[in-house]
Amino acid sequence: MATAKGYAALAAGAPLAPFTFDRREPNEDDVVIAIKYCGVCHSDIHMVDNGWGQSVYPIVPGHEITGVVTAVGAKVSRFKEGDRVGVGCFVDSCIGCATRDLDREQYMPGLVQTYSSPQPGSDLPTYGGYSDHMVVKEGYVLSIPDNLALDVAAPLLCAGVTLYSPLRHWNVGPGKKVAILGLGGLGHMGVKIAHAMGAEVTVLSQTLSKQADGLAMGADHYYATGDAETFKTLAGTLDLIICTVSAGIDWGRYLNLLKVDGTMVLVGAPEEPVSLNAFALIPGRRSLAGSMIGSIKETQEMLDFCGQHGIAADIETIAIDQINDAYKRMAKSDVRYRFVIDMATL
Ligand code: NAP
Ligand code: ZN
Repeated sequence: MATAKGYAALAAGAPLAPFTFDRREPNEDDVVIAIKYCGVCHSDIHMVDNGWGQSVYPIVPGHEITGVVTAVGAKVSRFKEGDRVGVGCFVDSCIGCATRDLDREQYMPGLVQTYSSPQPGSDLPTYGGYSDHMVVKEGYVLSIPDNLALDVAAPLLCAGVTLYSPLRHWNVGPGKKVAILGLGGLGHMGVKIAHAMGAEVTVLSQTLSKQADGLAMGADHYYATGDAETFKTLAGTLDLIICTVSAGIDWGRYLNLLKVDGTMVLVGAPEEPVSLNAFALIPGRRSLAGSMIGSIKETQEMLDFCGQHGIAADIETIAIDQINDAYKRMAKSDVRYRFVIDMATL
């Protein structure tokens, strides 16, 4: 066992504070990673607060991890010391199960999330990336393209793939009108990726305060949802809406913006139930769907796509002792567009 340093919340809603814990001895199929950067996802806040009712404490959050390999087990073939790597939202799954071949292991019951997740053969929960190092099975480690710096690449490991996966699944490309609802960490990656895929991209944000940024990221159109005119102008015009909003909204109002057969995909995960009038869906044969992160194969595909297109996150780098303030700012949608912790400050 090696002692790790990190930041943890010891109970629901408690502020994050320094925390020391053990990482397991590496097995022959494990990669040991010195963590350099970790993005701050809104899911970290929901989990620290136990907003979804599934948190296990103490929580060391963090699932947008980039770093450098410091050691590999004897059976590891894809990585060597010094490689630039990433770890996303999960570190194990039903590996023996045929579904791994279907490339959707994130939906399987054997999923072990990167933090606050029970793990087979241990009484302790998994501990995430707000820490100095981690030990991860080779099959759950990603390669970071050479042209992406580790700080701006970190948010791709969750925010990037969470948008890439539904954009691919719903066949986004030229001729498709896609709206990204909420221009935060996930949303800004969605704008960049959907634009690179060739879609006509609309941002729907609460105000126009981030309009110049959204257009610079590749959006073709930008509307404020605080303006009632937006809902008249855009009614029945969109093929796909990806909702990244972390709170409850008036769902029917947004579904009404879809064309016949259009789909709204929830990736944002509000803590309260989604309630809806059936007639928001029925008249336009509209669909309301959900999507969770992406498979390991899809995550590597997304990283390579971002490398080819020069896509990375817009970040505000913070020291780890600023993390509690960063959470407060994110609760007010005050981040441009992802906080990334520099782990050298630990
Ligand atoms: P974030 O950076 O805080 O961005 C969320 C954005 O939603 C905000 O920037 C804001 O956009 C908008 N928003 C927030 N509160 C709102 C409100 N009350 N009404 C209307 N709009 C509001 O969060 P994030 O890290 O992108 O995560 C977003 C959500 O996705 C969270 O719920 C997170 O847990 C979830 N998530 C899901 C997955 C998945 O696999 N499905 C993966 C990662 C995260 P504007 O300022 O532009 O209005
Ligand atoms: Zn996340």
